[in-house]
Amino acid sequence: TGHVVTGGIVSCKDSSWLLSWTINRQGQFKQQDKEKVCVWVYGLFTDVLGDYVKKPMKECTGKEITMEWLYHLGVPEKYIEDYATNSAICIPTMMPYITAFFMPRRKEDRPDVIVDGAVNFAFLGQFAHTPRDTVFTTEYSVRTAMEAVYGLLGVDRGVPEVWGSVYDIRELLDSSVKLMDGKSPLEINLGPLNIFKKPLIKAVKGTIIEKLLRDHEVLKDNM
Ligand SMILES: Cc1cc2nc3c(=O)[nH]c(=O)nc-3n(C[C@H](O)[C@H](O)[C@H](O)COP(=O)(O)OP(=O)(O)OC[C@H]3O[C@@H](n4cnc5c(N)ncnc54)[C@H](O)[C@@H]3O)c2cc1C
Repeated sequence: TGHVVTGGIVSCKDSSWLLSWTINRQGQFKQQDKEKVCVWVYGLFTDVLGDYVKKPMKECTGKEITMEWLYHLGVPEKYIEDYATNSAICIPTMMPYITAFFMPRRKEDRPDVIVDGAVNFAFLGQFAHTPRDTVFTTEYSVRTAMEAVYGLLGVDRGVPEVWGSVYDIRELLDSSVKLMDGKSPLEINLGPLNIFKKPLIKAVKGTIIEKLLRDHEVLKDNM
């Protein structure tokens, strides 16, 4: 009861299917029973045998997929079949095309949204090219649609800019700390670079850089 969960994908690194799961904020559906939780479990390697269910994922029923997941969660084996049968409903879905978004490509492999000279057609969606944005988001599709409509029909509205996080030092500092579960690069062993830590801290003392590093927890209170 009162589940407030906000996703965060968990991957089972020992899973031969490379199972992951995520539990996003409930309820996922308007009619969802408040006592039930909707979980999204998925696997990337559907051709190989499971570690508990000795079948390829693509041949498994929902119950079998649930059993494999419960096994990786560490549920004692004597409960696995019972829980998968009586406490869960799993609906398997194959999405064979989704990884196509991530196939290696060169810049010219995808057409521009409005190709040079086009006046009455455009390309929309994940396989059209728009500079700097990253695929696998609904925003990407929406952006291509905006570019197409505004561009072809001469609508005088700006397409929202892709947020330039890669050029924002604050964002980069935050990400490097988050990537290491909250540890600052100054707290981990940097090998031969360790000798630069102390001089660096000294050099930035009292400067705006010190403030920046403190604000983003690269420099912690005890440093
Ligand atoms: C498992 C998964 C998880 C995702 N998670 C996220 C996420 O968390 N956040 C996020 O932003 N994005 C996520 N995405 C990506 C996002 O869902 C897609 O990028 C987005 O839905 C693409 O929208 P679209 O309108 O461009 O294309 P689509 O939604 O693919 O729409 C294309 C439509 O065209 C129809 N169609 C195809 N051929 C024809 C035809 N010949 N005639 C008529 N109709 C046709 C199709 O049936 C479909 O309805 C996820 C995608 C997947 C698969």
